[in-house]
Amino acid sequence: MADKNAHLKGRRRYKADLADMEEACAAGIVIEQGYMIKKLQPGDEEGAIELIICDLEGQHVLSLNLLISDTSDYPKNHVFFPSSPDTGLPPRLLNVVEGVLDTAQPIRQTIQNVISTLARANTGTTPQGFRSQEVEFDDDDSSIDDYGAFDQFDGLDLSPTTVSKFDLQTLQNNFVETVATGYRPGLLHFADDDFAVSISLPVITLAKSIPPRALMAWDRRLLSRSQHLTLLISGFRGVYPPLDSSGAYTTLAQHSMSSLKFKVGLTKRYKPGKEYAKDAGRTFGLIVPDAEDEVRMQAEKALEDIEYDCDAYCYSAETMQAPAQVEEEDVEDDGSFDRFSLSSSLETLLDQALLKVIQLRRKFGLGWAGAELLLSEMEKTQTTAEILFGTQRELILAADREEIRLGRTNDLPHDPLSGLGQDDEVNITLTTFSYLIRRLSLCPRYCIVCHDRLNTDYEALKPYVCDSKLCAYQYYSFNRGPSLEYEIIHNPETVDLLISITHSAASEQVIEEPLPIGMGLRVPPPDMTKIRHPPTPPPQSPYALPVPPVPQQVAIGLDGMCDFDDLSLPMMSASIVQLIDSLPSVEDMKKHLERKIKAGKLKPKLKDLDPKVLPAAWSILRWCVASCTAHLEEITSGEESIKNLDPGWRQFRFSVGSPDAEAKFKAAVTAAQQRSANALEFPSLYAFHGSPLKNWHSIIRHGLWYKSIANGRAYGHGVYLAKEGNLSMSTYAQSGRSIWRKSKICPTNCVALAEIVNLPEQFVSQHPHFVIKDTHWIICRYLLVKGTIESNFDTVLPEPVRNPTPLVKLDPIHPTTLGNKRIEIPDPSYQIHALLEARREEYREEENDEEDLAVFQANISVSQVIDDGEDFDMDVDMDYMDSYNDYEDYRDSKLVTSTEKGKAAMILPFTGDDWKHDSDWVLRSIENLLPPLSEANPSATMAVQRELKSMLKEQESAKSLRELGWYMPPDLIGDNLFQWIVEMHSFDENLPIAGDLKARNLNSIIFEIRFPPTFPIGPPFFRIITPRFLPFIQGGGGHVTGGGSICMDLLTSDGWLPSYSISAVLMQIKLAISNLDPRPARLSADFDRPYGVQEALIGYKRAAATHGWQV
Ligand SMILES: [Zn+2]
Repeated sequence: MADKNAHLKGRRRYKADLADMEEACAAGIVIEQGYMIKKLQPGDEEGAIELIICDLEGQHVLSLNLLISDTSDYPKNHVFFPSSPDTGLPPRLLNVVEGVLDTAQPIRQTIQNVISTLARANTGTTPQGFRSQEVEFDDDDSSIDDYGAFDQFDGLDLSPTTVSKFDLQTLQNNFVETVATGYRPGLLHFADDDFAVSISLPVITLAKSIPPRALMAWDRRLLSRSQHLTLLISGFRGVYPPLDSSGAYTTLAQHSMSSLKFKVGLTKRYKPGKEYAKDAGRTFGLIVPDAEDEVRMQAEKALEDIEYDCDAYCYSAETMQAPAQVEEEDVEDDGSFDRFSLSSSLETLLDQALLKVIQLRRKFGLGWAGAELLLSEMEKTQTTAEILFGTQRELILAADREEIRLGRTNDLPHDPLSGLGQDDEVNITLTTFSYLIRRLSLCPRYCIVCHDRLNTDYEALKPYVCDSKLCAYQYYSFNRGPSLEYEIIHNPETVDLLISITHSAASEQVIEEPLPIGMGLRVPPPDMTKIRHPPTPPPQSPYALPVPPVPQQVAIGLDGMCDFDDLSLPMMSASIVQLIDSLPSVEDMKKHLERKIKAGKLKPKLKDLDPKVLPAAWSILRWCVASCTAHLEEITSGEESIKNLDPGWRQFRFSVGSPDAEAKFKAAVTAAQQRSANALEFPSLYAFHGSPLKNWHSIIRHGLWYKSIANGRAYGHGVYLAKEGNLSMSTYAQSGRSIWRKSKICPTNCVALAEIVNLPEQFVSQHPHFVIKDTHWIICRYLLVKGTIESNFDTVLPEPVRNPTPLVKLDPIHPTTLGNKRIEIPDPSYQIHALLEARREEYREEENDEEDLAVFQANISVSQVIDDGEDFDMDVDMDYMDSYNDYEDYRDSKLVTSTEKGKAAMILPFTGDDWKHDSDWVLRSIENLLPPLSEANPSATMAVQRELKSMLKEQESAKSLRELGWYMPPDLIGDNLFQWIVEMHSFDENLPIAGDLKARNLNSIIFEIRFPPTFPIGPPFFRIITPRFLPFIQGGGGHVTGGGSICMDLLTSDGWLPSYSISAVLMQIKLAISNLDPRPARLSADFDRPYGVQEALIGYKRAAATHGWQV
């Protein structure tokens, strides 16, 4: 992209190049070869540039002013005249300054050359803090670009004495921690010694913490197939970990010019394919491209231009892949990294703010919200963090407290920075992903462009922009919102409805914020005769419009047009009506977009449909759709539609209000059920809410309840709903006086059907309307729109279906009727549940690929994994591990001789506070246990009885249970001799698994032991019932298989010896679980989900197959 201004020459090229450089500097200080450009700005004169170069500690190195002779000579024949305002420059710096004169290069290259000369001039005296570390890992200067670390990585043997740029051990620790939090890390190692890291989460798992209806509203593609939300971090430049404990780049990272870049998208697999990852991570930096790069970039640019045109209507104009229409053809490409509606917004947030926010958190001990507020204030006021933290401490801390409150109703992700020690390094992989999930969960609360908190008194379902004009401009001109073209193709009726209600609101002069201002619209002077009604707000209404300002003189340009933003509100309304009237029908737009095109030809664009339509009209159309923060989708299947409804009504699925509205509503329903037996049987009521057509433009943007109080207070304050639809419709849902003539659906009336908590005695009023004060008690489900309906609309003839949507069980005391006919309402959450279920069924757990297995299995010495290994008897354990692969020795020397040595290593001295059996815990855990699958024979029975006696004897005679390390609850012995329940407990407290058990308050690991009819010739089968361990493929260890069985050679028919005692085997299993090689055993995020019956059976069969058993 270095030559993206190549088509320009002279002054314009100069301006464009300078603007790019300014932008690069404004986005963050540019770091280059051990220096940073702290400031870069145009000087007072045309052709003047001022910049300040610092070292990485922020120490001033050089101020440089450049003045170009004549910008029309730029970029090839100009001369930069350099000077420096710094006094007393040493000769080497003077040389650097003067060196600029020799070249006639573009701005970027000129500055690059200055820095290179500076780096050369300073060899041996590079900025402080720089050399010391470098010397440690290599004292040869030329090795700066030596990415030798990866050679070691390939060999998977990272010797602890090697200090290298790539610390595999830290990566492994970070990956394991990421997995333990429930996310899936991945490494993508590129051929050129760089790498990227991906972190992902299946969207179905995401749907457990973010309400699925919100996910659907943000981008319906999120749930359109089984896929992952994936973050890709690149720009490491071979260095890991890139950040130190303060969240700043390590000197090693600065040295290597690491500059992290973040990409957010959807992948079918748990990580993107390498080609896609590489494309996504390609960055724009201050690097002089070599010839090969130049060729590659040119090719890419050419490709991009084509893609831009082809995909212009697929999502954002940037790099959206997977265009809507070719989705089906694309599904085979498993590696693709697809963007979705929030990708750009989240990426710019991460690129611009993440590291700064982390640093503020680390420095001031703040939470995410506090640090975000501090950063935003710093940028607004250009004040230092210290000063602001001093003056605004209370506000900043209040933001953190508010987030804690927020966490009670929103399922916010685990925060890896909370509780992190002062000197602990930041796990950038996990931290970034947690921050991403947090911001995604809370996205409607922030401006999608500038990322600041919105100051609205309602929370929308979908994210939108703040009221800054700049944000609106960027949102619309870069298509940051939902794709209009996608909506026209997939949701034409909704688009039609949105245009129509905007038209109605504008015609009747009730349109208000958000207005389409800041979009740079050039419009014809409005025709005021189009306005039918001057606004006549009821005088007492708190929501009355401000008195319209006196229309000012509008400046009309040479093009005969004026700036929309300069118009008065009534004129804006008139202009909106005029622009909408000039649009073709949505049907025509859809036909145009869906026109078949020959391969290689560009896809049709909306603006080519009718050259007479002004660009401003297309922008208004985009605004009508993209400013709608509710979710509306027409129901076209008879099965999902409301029954007994007059066929003149179109039905839309309708969601409005904050993403967690559903959760709040459910909580209210549950509370009501504790108070009312009737609510227990019929949890909710359904009622209608009507409002004149002209108000719906505002209602779907601000929420149903925001305005509705204006409808009258005859029956008290609150939201008015009616059980009988006609009451709502005739009284409140007045038809519009003006309609958009091109509308196919021609809406005349709108009415919402809402679900309400069935506790009418708590309502403000019950007759003739329900009047409800608490808005959490109401949730919108459907929007009914009266208008033109084609005769073949299928609600008229509901077709028989195999799996009909269940109907809501309506309370007979308060029937919902329309024209005195009882209506039947399909369960509104059924569809989304069915969708989630389908995604869940499609989802396949993937194994780690070789690259990730290599990370997890990398052989890192035990002493390094345990931070504080003092109490851990390493000798014995290492001894155990050494012999682990040599089972002959192992059996003879240890197992049969009752493992005295092993016991010594694992069991702590008895200190009085012995482990206690908790029978509730065990009984709860074995509820769903399968009965044994095989019959026993007499010799097996005798052998098992002998084992049992010996076990109980050992248990009774143990000095302490803690020393014993296992426990057989005597109350569970007897029912079935061949099925034992044994608890394992009292792990060395330095082990990660011990910490996991303690943190989750789990008393023990519960085992089932099954004896085969061939016992003691055949081995018993050991498996864990609960808690669930982190599977090996996700980074778990401890020789526990995915189904909970134990993977040890001595338990296979080949490895088993009849002389083994069960207690000795238990001890070996305990050692295996305690074994940190290749990775420590950890509990899974869903540790409390016992290994299920089905799973156990599969695991059992798998184990049986390996063991050569008959099942
Ligand atoms: Zn904004």
